[in-house]
Amino acid sequence: MSLQKEPTTYSLRELGLSADKLDRHAVSITDRLVKAGFQAYLVGGCVRDLLLGLHPKDFDVSTNAEPEQIQALFRNCRLIGRRFRLAHIHFGRHIIEVATFRGPHVKHDKNNSHAHKDGRLLRDNVYGTLEEDAWRRDFTVNALYLDAQKKTVIDYVGGIEDHQNKTLRLMGDPVTRLKEDPVRLLRAVRFRAKLGFELESQTETPMVEMAPLLKDIPSARLYDEILKLLLNTKASAVFEMLRQYGLFEALFPQTALCLKKADSNAPLALIEQAMKNTESRLINNQGVTPYFLLATILWEPVRRLTEQNRHTFNSDTQAIHAAANDVVAHQISRIAIPRRITTPMREVWALQPRFHKQMGVRCLRFLEHPRFRAAYDFMLLRAQHGEIDKKIADWWTHIQTLEPSEQKLMTRPNQFKNKRKPRKKEQSNKTDSD
Ligand code: ATP
Ligand code: MG
Repeated sequence: MSLQKEPTTYSLRELGLSADKLDRHAVSITDRLVKAGFQAYLVGGCVRDLLLGLHPKDFDVSTNAEPEQIQALFRNCRLIGRRFRLAHIHFGRHIIEVATFRGPHVKHDKNNSHAHKDGRLLRDNVYGTLEEDAWRRDFTVNALYLDAQKKTVIDYVGGIEDHQNKTLRLMGDPVTRLKEDPVRLLRAVRFRAKLGFELESQTETPMVEMAPLLKDIPSARLYDEILKLLLNTKASAVFEMLRQYGLFEALFPQTALCLKKADSNAPLALIEQAMKNTESRLINNQGVTPYFLLATILWEPVRRLTEQNRHTFNSDTQAIHAAANDVVAHQISRIAIPRRITTPMREVWALQPRFHKQMGVRCLRFLEHPRFRAAYDFMLLRAQHGEIDKKIADWWTHIQTLEPSEQKLMTRPNQFKNKRKPRKKEQSNKTDSD
């Protein structure tokens, strides 16, 4: 990768940036580092987001001071990480991450840096200069350094021009950079959706071919990335792009296979609807839980397997439990979904057959179940896509609006018979009685 000699420096004013948008804690850290004779800049996502007029979610600082030198300057500092030590500077609950410039991984001594035989970077822990630190980042727009004292932005990599053209460009040879760290594939999608930028063609072309490399990424890291990808206001666009680049298949192979085999659009439409619901909940400041979204993504494989094995179990619930065990076990080998998430996912699935039972005390007790609301929302999604009779969905919507005494009446077996047409045989078979 060729290093430019001189960076281009822009004033904040010519970039339309105002210094009062900067996080005061991050600026105070750079002030102290600079006074102590070091270089220190705001870097990465915060500069990129400020240039778009967005409110950065965090401010990172990059410096030539080494971790112990940083620690000596700040009482509120903790060093974290064993391989590459980072300084966390605490201001109450607010943390600013301060990282020492990193250099390229190739030219330094063998003990500090390793590439896997397939080009994946296993260790990335050598200190470097500002310029080297810029080139080892991913996209040019993520490699801009803001000097809060001089009120300038330093650009070694053409990031400002790319930012102005709304372009995401991996630095260096994209194939090499994607092999080094295939998570960059997911970052490309996330930033494309979040920023509304386009991928530069040389960056985009190898993506589909590189997608299978995600299989080698540690499952815990993928879980973190998945949350960032899907729990945001651009979830629908992200989902579409993941499919477009073959990344969805690498992340959720069981679901991808089911979607391929599906003879209707309904399973895909159900997931798309869940993405849209996530977006609107986030926009309306309602909470979103990863388990609900993951339960919808993995539902089709669970549903199919349940159907396949139904005859070997005594109830639908048992069949769902068995299918869930299978599907979850396969999925967590790819993405480390923690148990605190898989447990409610399974509950939401296993509660589905109970919506077919509309009488008796058990039915009333179901309304009190801690997971009723989520299971109900999930059932509504299924009803929207033709998996459950809409009348059943309406019945459950209605009963929630009633007083307990009226609910009791509505679920009394004889009341039920009087008010409704007798159910067809196949339908009553669906009633689960575990
Ligand atoms: P956001 O915080 O909005 O998700 P970000 O760009 O700040 O976006 P972080 O994960 O916080 O993303 O990373 C901070 C910076 O570190 C990035 O802007 C980029 O310069 C660099 N970086 C992060 N991950 C990688 C990676 N996989 N490869 C190369 N550089 C990376
Ligand atoms: Mg960030």
